[in-house]
Amino acid sequence: MKWEENVRRVVPYTPGEQPQKAGIIKLNTNENPYGPAPGVARAIRDLDAESLRLYPAFPEETDLAKALAAYYHIGQDQIFIGVGSDDVLSMIFMTFFQSDKPIFFPDITYSFYDVWADVYRIPYETKALSADFLIRPEDYKQPNGGVVFPNPNAPTGEVMSLAMVEEIVKNNRDVVVVVDEAYIDFGGISALPLIEKYDNLLVVQTFSKSRCMAGMRIGYAMGQPRLIRYLNDVKYSVNSYTMNTAALALGVEAVRDEVYFKECCEKIMKTRERAEKELAGRGFVFPKSCANFIFASHKTVPAREIFEKLKQNDIYVRWWNKARIDNYLRITIGTDEQMEALYRALDKIV
Ligand SMILES: *Cc1c(COP(=O)(O)O)cnc(C)c1O
Repeated sequence: MKWEENVRRVVPYTPGEQPQKAGIIKLNTNENPYGPAPGVARAIRDLDAESLRLYPAFPEETDLAKALAAYYHIGQDQIFIGVGSDDVLSMIFMTFFQSDKPIFFPDITYSFYDVWADVYRIPYETKALSADFLIRPEDYKQPNGGVVFPNPNAPTGEVMSLAMVEEIVKNNRDVVVVVDEAYIDFGGISALPLIEKYDNLLVVQTFSKSRCMAGMRIGYAMGQPRLIRYLNDVKYSVNSYTMNTAALALGVEAVRDEVYFKECCEKIMKTRERAEKELAGRGFVFPKSCANFIFASHKTVPAREIFEKLKQNDIYVRWWNKARIDNYLRITIGTDEQMEALYRALDKIV
């Protein structure tokens, strides 16, 4: 077809499966196995359908922005709120990566980065992780159009020290550096304090993992007001009303209940500690994880085989048919009961 010459062609990102069948143990997309804070359910009941008549408020003026600003001790003008961190990151790519020079990110990382680069026609170069899957700050010193990396990294789960993150930010003062902290609440140290010192740093977080609200789609970026203003200019040039009224109201409750949030993260970390022992005892090896998943390889049984057999047992984990990582499984930390079911199933496989 002639019109196809004018199509913006792209190979889309493939998320983990969302099976609609009941009874699946879903350890494949790093969702939190626990429900959101109790106040969220209350806010759903209290939501006035009549309020949906109006367009939503501007996110930066809402109670959600106030709650996040208070929680992180920053100004409301230092927060950009979006439809999950995927939306936030996509806006960041569109806004800040306009250079002719390639942006840098690790070769093994969140597999959405190269998709956004492709869709926005941003040149990029990947930097190989070390043999033990670590990001090496010295690889991010050459001239570039921007830098983005998750900390902890996905899907390896390995965390970088604050000093290492700062080294990357410090060595790249002429471009924007984005730290994707989707998993930071499971034991890592956030780079947030560095935003006061560096006007080129954006820290991105999400409600999808540690705040148990993947289905509500809330994410945010934090940085100096100048960065946030540029982001808002682009966002308001694409779609003014990305955040719906319900999400804005429910998100507040998740931020306010700090006790529930901390308990939830601690439960996951405890279950992870136990999982390390259980998996190691069954012949798995894995890098030290600071996230709500473990990236594990078995000493003798191929990852693909384990992946398929677990699936036959209604246990879903994630496996990529990709160089360097095709003998690894990314296993999300579920409840203790879900993990027990995983160990029982593994006993029949490995
Ligand atoms: C899950 C995840 C995201 C996106 O999460 P949202 O649900 O869009 O907030 C971003 N980056 C990494 C590394 C992730 O694992």
